[in-house]
Amino acid sequence: MMEYRTKVPPLDCSDTALFLDFDGTLVDIAPTPDAVVLPADLGLLLCRLEEATGGALAIVSGRSLNELEGFLRGFDGVMVGSHGSEARGMTPPLEALPEGLEAAQTEMRDYAASRGLLYEHKSMGAAIHFRNRPDAGPEVRAFIDRLAITNPRFEVQPAKMAYELRPAGFSKDGALQLLSDLPAFLGRRPVYIGDDTTDEPALDWAETHGGFGIKVGEGASCASQRLPDPAAVLEWLRAGGAR
Ligand SMILES: [Mg+2]
Repeated sequence: MMEYRTKVPPLDCSDTALFLDFDGTLVDIAPTPDAVVLPADLGLLLCRLEEATGGALAIVSGRSLNELEGFLRGFDGVMVGSHGSEARGMTPPLEALPEGLEAAQTEMRDYAASRGLLYEHKSMGAAIHFRNRPDAGPEVRAFIDRLAITNPRFEVQPAKMAYELRPAGFSKDGALQLLSDLPAFLGRRPVYIGDDTTDEPALDWAETHGGFGIKVGEGASCASQRLPDPAAVLEWLRAGGAR
């Protein structure tokens, strides 16, 4: 296997603004979203990095904010959830629930149940996972596409073995743009770490705003840097936080 690690410049907390995806980046992808296993020192590590960067650390995830808060107890820093539509530690980008949310969630739950697929309820949308039935991917995509067409307040977000309906007009790179104007982040070199297609715009944002992106795992990416898995990400972060 390629030795990616040697290529990534060491983390310098003194001038870096650190943006971290959650699933597939800090924790391994699990068979179901609830089943992720948290590294024992993750909360402590994030706290240490937050201090070392002068508060210029944010978790930027597609997960609901309340889920992130549940997983990352002990860390009280900035978090952006639901692909940029919810946030803690900054002005929430979307204050009200989008109209039609509940009806769309119900349709998706019923659809998933009728086909033996996993429905994931999210505070600002929902996802249908087809990891247990990979052949169902195109059918799920067509179903969620139709929902998004009939309700333009939402758009389809492809993810790893899942399709998601989320509020339109928000994105992780949009979140980075907002975060970078906060005093703690201002003037720092952005480093974004993510593993999924949803992370590409944010990886690109970091690359084009004086910093760099780190793609986690295999697959095409616009990021100039790469680490093989969450364990390598944590190792890189620990080394930077200890400096
Ligand atoms: Mg991810």
